[in-house]
Amino acid sequence: MRELLRKNIAELKPYSCARNDFTGEAEVYLDANENWQDFVGKVDANRYPDPLSVQVRKAIEEKLGLPFANTLLGNGSDELIDNLLRCFCNPGKDSILLMPPTYGAYRVFADINDVLVEQVPLTPDFAIDFPSLEAFLFQEKASRKSGGRLKLLFICSPNNPSGNAFSLDQIERVCSLFDGLTVVDEAYYDFSNKPSAVSLLDRFPNLVVLRTLSKCWALASARVGIAIASEEIIAVFRSMKYPYNIGSPSQKLALKALKEADAVLQGLAQIKEERTRLGTELAKLSCVKHVFPSDANFFLVRVTDANALYHYLADRGIIVRNRSKEMHCQSCLRITVGSRTENDKLLAALAAYEEC
Ligand code: PMP
Repeated sequence: MRELLRKNIAELKPYSCARNDFTGEAEVYLDANENWQDFVGKVDANRYPDPLSVQVRKAIEEKLGLPFANTLLGNGSDELIDNLLRCFCNPGKDSILLMPPTYGAYRVFADINDVLVEQVPLTPDFAIDFPSLEAFLFQEKASRKSGGRLKLLFICSPNNPSGNAFSLDQIERVCSLFDGLTVVDEAYYDFSNKPSAVSLLDRFPNLVVLRTLSKCWALASARVGIAIASEEIIAVFRSMKYPYNIGSPSQKLALKALKEADAVLQGLAQIKEERTRLGTELAKLSCVKHVFPSDANFFLVRVTDANALYHYLADRGIIVRNRSKEMHCQSCLRITVGSRTENDKLLAALAAYEEC
């Protein structure tokens, strides 16, 4: 892993904030230039938060089985994606590999960091194209110059926007093929029945798995993402992240949600039930050509005319995501599985569209 790091990150002397210098309990805190007055209450808003989110990570270990020593929290998993680019990719020199169609932010964050993007598209039925991937990786390795190289490979599983998860065998195969860092983004993992790539961490030290509390745990606004990786990689992340990247209100919300794990699991069962119903009902409509199977909380749906349908639904106050410009997603909408009422509204609007 060390040889993949940017030199400036490997040599970084991290900033040490007040809450790093003293970690015990004290009566009087005059070390961080905070305001002793709390005008808001309940969330310790006047005090800087725990930089290492210790309580939340302990709860994450307890409830999600992700070992405390191997986790680091980000301001959403988006921050963690950006941190990976900043740690490993030399701007203007190194590259990352994407398998489109996939989560659009990987490319945007790469562009922001001036990191090149290579692509090996998924097959039209959204499987990993192993012959092309192997050929690409072989050629990239052979043609490396001292200037830069492929550093990161992103696998999104379940994949946004196609909704399918990749098997552990396939992810393992990618980890074996690639001599850089493989990143498996499991933002939608909870909705899938496929096993997590976390079980591969022991055998593949150059693997990073990302999770989030934004989806199944219903905390999109709290911005809590989780990186799971070797202690060595976690130490690098810790050295370069913003000192107070997760505010106390968000840490408290995360703790509260993790305490409500039973309710969250019930909610997850409801979403899965609605996913089955919505998928079945969508497939019956004549404006729907194909509903791609989903391991996530959304469907990719091929329709007769995605642009027309998108505007038709928007005019009726129903917003879906038009993905028709993405690779292999011609005339496709991405539709989140909502509440039963929301899904009924969507289905009624689509049925009315068919009649006009
Ligand atoms: N990964 C994927 C695949 C996503 O779809 C999203 C958000 N839609 C994220 C990561 C970012 O999630 P967050 O920053 O809320 O954790």
